[in-house]
This record gives sequence, C-alpha cells and structure tokens, in this order.
Amino acid sequence: MRVMWGLVLAAVLATQSLAGAPETSPRPPLRLLEAIVPPGPEQAALDPEESPALVTQRRPVARPAALEALLHRNLAQELKAAGVPGFVPEEAALSIARSQAFAARSPQAIGLSLRPLLRPESMVERVMAKRRERARGAVCGDVDLQGEAIGYVPGKIAACGVSDAVRLRSVSGVALSQQAVMDCTTAKALKQWVNRAVKPAVGTQGGGVSGLRVAAHYACRTRNNQPGAKVSEHGKGRAIDIAAIRLRDGSEMSVLRDWGQGGKGRALRKMHSAACGTFGTVLGPGSDGYHEDHFHFDTARYRSGSYCR
Ligand SMILES: [Zn+2]
Repeated sequence: MRVMWGLVLAAVLATQSLAGAPETSPRPPLRLLEAIVPPGPEQAALDPEESPALVTQRRPVARPAALEALLHRNLAQELKAAGVPGFVPEEAALSIARSQAFAARSPQAIGLSLRPLLRPESMVERVMAKRRERARGAVCGDVDLQGEAIGYVPGKIAACGVSDAVRLRSVSGVALSQQAVMDCTTAKALKQWVNRAVKPAVGTQGGGVSGLRVAAHYACRTRNNQPGAKVSEHGKGRAIDIAAIRLRDGSEMSVLRDWGQGGKGRALRKMHSAACGTFGTVLGPGSDGYHEDHFHFDTARYRSGSYCR
C-alpha cells in the first residue's frame, strides 16, 4: 500500500516539474489602502453592494466615533461611581483622548483598550506594607509563624530553659489565645498540625478555625507538677497544651466539654490522632487522668517512636 502511494506522489511531482516554474509570482498584487477602506468613520454603514472588495476582506470595522466616546464616558463614570480607589478622572480622560486620536488615524484601530487600569500607587503601597510587616513578624524563617524571636530563655533550675526560643502569636493565620514560648521545632510542628489536622477536621464548621486556646506553653516545672518527677517538656520549650479550637462564629470546640460528643467530639478526635507523628508525645482525655481538659503535644523524640494516648 505504501509503495503504491509513493508511486502516485512521484508521478504528481514529475508532472509539476514538467510544467516548469510560473512566469510570475502567484501572490496577488497589494491593494491600495484607499481601495480597502475608505477614510472616515462612515464605513460602518458601507453598502456591500457598492464595495464588494470590502466584504470579502472581512476586516473588523471601526466603531463609530460617537459610540466610542459614549463607551469611554460610561466607563469613566462607572469607575467614579464605584469609588475605585486611586481613580484619577484626568488620567482616564487623557487615555480616552489618546485612544480616540489613535482611532481617528487608523480606521481599523479599536479605540477602547482592553488593558486593565494600572493599580494606583496607594494600593500597591498598602499591599507592600502588609507584606513587609508580615516578613518582619516572621520567626523560624517562616512567614506563617508570626511572633518574635527571644533567643535564650534561662531556666530557674539547670534542667529548664530554651536555647533559641520564639514567642509565637499566630500559626498559618490562626491566632493563639496567649503568646506561646517554644523552640522552632515545636513551632513548626504546631504549624503542621494546624494545617494538616485542625483545618481539615474543622472544615467550614462555625465558619472555620480562627484560633487556638492555649492552656500552657513554656513553664519550668516537673511533669504534671508532681514533686520529684522529671522536668516536663514544657520546661524545655518543647511542649504546648491546647484546651480548645476557636471558630470564626465565636464558638469553640472544647476538649473538656466536647470530647466524645457529636460532630465537635469527632473533629477533636481526628485532630488528636492526626497529631501523632508530627509530635513525639500526644496526650488527651483518657490518657492518664491529667489531660481531661486539654491536649498535650511535645516534640520529645523517643527511640520507640511517638507516644500517643
Ligand atoms: Zn502539657
């Protein structure tokens, strides 16, 4: 089959070459501009009978100047009425005059530019200021972690203290009810938990997550405040206790009140189990009697893996 097509193609080529090159170029001669488009905006009303060349040309026709002016005037008025910030009527008028002059010179030109208006300087400045502020408040090299770096925090006893601490205000846009002191490892773990566990578990309930009610953070104390016990991870800036998730409608998902009950209880259980692995220790209601009203998370690492109850 392929051989046959090859033969046909060869025959066609041979015939063409025998016919010889054309004497003149097959390209049509250029038409004079006047023949294509007569000057003036009246062309919109051209009669196809009178100038068939124009019909076959199928070029767009310029809008009549009156329509153009009307469009521009309306646009300017709408922008003004809408109170678009930074809208300068003089600039808009200049731009309109410019495009009208352009349209007058070339009948094919579309007078009204589809280019969006430039952002006013004031708006750009506001956005940049917000960005700078966020960058200034970033800790642990992450703009999602907002707070301040406080460096070395000495402990009352040798086993306490944090070598490179931060005082955290918010995590991925979720505000902490009190500024919490911890190290960057713990701050980053908290961010991961907020994004991967808290936000998905809450979803749109109550309008979504707005904050975390922090029950405890850095504190130089023994485990569960028991005399003679080892120093808690709280005393090393590696732990945080969360008593509730605050929602945008002002309500809460409270560990004390909602654990084991209804939709809020199910969401809390999801957050609790999803914390395992992100944190080295995860404790909550039912784990040891000390965590009935809050979740305890810390970033202590054990050889046996995470400890989650
Ligand atoms: Zn704790």
